Amino acid sequence: MLRGGCYLAFAASPETLGIEETVMDKYQQSQKNKLFKPQHGDPYLELPSSGTALCPQCGVTYHRGHWSWKSAAPSDAQSVVCPACRRIADDQPAGILHLGGKFLGEHRQEILNLIHNTEAAEKTAHALERLLKVTDKDDGLEVTTTGMHLANRIGHALNAAYKGHSEYHYSDDENSVHIRWQRD
Ligand SMILES: [Zn+2]
Repeated sequence: MLRGGCYLAFAASPETLGIEETVMDKYQQSQKNKLFKPQHGDPYLELPSSGTALCPQCGVTYHRGHWSWKSAAPSDAQSVVCPACRRIADDQPAGILHLGGKFLGEHRQEILNLIHNTEAAEKTAHALERLLKVTDKDDGLEVTTTGMHLANRIGHALNAAYKGHSEYHYSDDENSVHIRWQRD
């Protein structure tokens, strides 16, 4: 299978390409699992005991193993505060971004717009991925999120739009991510 010029440059055999593909699929699958399934030991991702639930604070519903905006809650749905609202109430982010550098000072509003637009797009599809806080710090801006996926998306959006330098650090239990982005 042809996978593009870069593979041909290495004269990779079809077997090698097959291995690459398997690794990629496993990686994508694991990312998907992280996004939709509870991580062991993360109290914020414990599932409601009943099959359906409604968050009284934000209106998100739990149905068939997922929290989403789409399904209407049945009348017997259990009232359960969703993981995102609990993280917001406890001020316990799953994602923390530190933005710094001269470029940030010169393009602050533009960067804030990018952050809010990324949240809006992400939150529609993944109900538990929300901005928690955007705080001015002495050395830049701190952005916290209720989910790791949104933090990653913001980090990649900053890189895609403005380049700069970024570092990603995952906690040992893989339940949180710390991202530093800098452009001078
Ligand atoms: Zn909620």
